[in-house]
Amino acid sequence: MSRAIKFLRELIALPSVNPAFLPANDPRAGEQRVADFLADTATRFGLDVELHEVSPSRSNLLARLAASRKARQRILLAPHMDTVGGESPEIFEPRESDGRLHGRGACDTKGSLAAMLSALIELAAAPRRPGHTEIVFAGLVDEENGQLGSRALVAKGFKADLAIVGEPTRLQVATAHKGDLWLQLETRGKAAHGARPELGRNAVHEMARIVDLLETTYASLLRQRRHSLLGNPTVSVGTIGGGSQPNIVPDQCRISIDRRTIPGETAAGVRREIQSLLRRHKLKARLLNIRNAPCPALETNFSLPLVKKFLASTGQTRPIGVHYFCDAAVLAGGGIPSVVFGPGNIAQAHTADEWISLRQLEQGTRILLRFLESLP
Ligand SMILES: [Zn+2]
Repeated sequence: MSRAIKFLRELIALPSVNPAFLPANDPRAGEQRVADFLADTATRFGLDVELHEVSPSRSNLLARLAASRKARQRILLAPHMDTVGGESPEIFEPRESDGRLHGRGACDTKGSLAAMLSALIELAAAPRRPGHTEIVFAGLVDEENGQLGSRALVAKGFKADLAIVGEPTRLQVATAHKGDLWLQLETRGKAAHGARPELGRNAVHEMARIVDLLETTYASLLRQRRHSLLGNPTVSVGTIGGGSQPNIVPDQCRISIDRRTIPGETAAGVRREIQSLLRRHKLKARLLNIRNAPCPALETNFSLPLVKKFLASTGQTRPIGVHYFCDAAVLAGGGIPSVVFGPGNIAQAHTADEWISLRQLEQGTRILLRFLESLP
């Protein structure tokens, strides 16, 4: 069994569900077990290890391979340690069948943790390692919820010349991903007795027209915008609630929407465009941003020399774009050119039967090792 497969089996057996998805003190919550395992393993193979506390019992794990001579550049390998939850306890037991390893985190992103750490350990033991490149492996906390780990790393002023963020991309290098905006809209009406609706103003009815406008006119406007790697931005109404009982004309209604952005679109710009669309249709709603932290789109210049070199080591001529938000945009926001890369398929992430192809896991480890070995 290869080292990457062995690591992945051990990692799946250490539950690290994001605490945001579990009741307080659930034994499967938190990244600490995984951080400790990675710290022990990295230390055993001679890497320099640091734990950076992000919040109580939640630390990013950094393992460093110094340049053998004078460092002139730094590469960051950045997978995350947290996972989503799972109903059945079996999902936390690794199970192999037909060349696949099943279990929570197999592809999102314990597979990347295993591949990236194995590549770094092999490089550390190789006769020739980069003379002028420092390589830092960072197991990050909280990607699945608020990205506290990558945000803390950037806030500390951490810099690198390239970050490879581990997410299941089927071993393709992605230089772009969409951003994500959550907005709440609220309409106000006037309450009245249900028997005399003409005396009130129905906030639910006004919202119904807004929902329709967003899902038809606004959605088709967005379909006309195009990014070469990401296609068009989207809008989706996710929740609705309003009124209090059948015999009262509702004076309030709220919806929340998920608006996926492409590079160049800003939160303020999106708010302005929705407000002006509502005005043109004589509709009125209060608009609120309901995300704690910004989640912008990612767009990394793929003609940067290190990005080109990494693309070449996967055999790709052109990068891809992915639809989901991840740590890459946060790191890029801190001035680190970032790409997304890892074994596994996002189609299996967050599902009741998460798995990864073991061939892809090993191939990913080899690609990373080859790339790291080729650095000066
Ligand atoms: Zn995920």
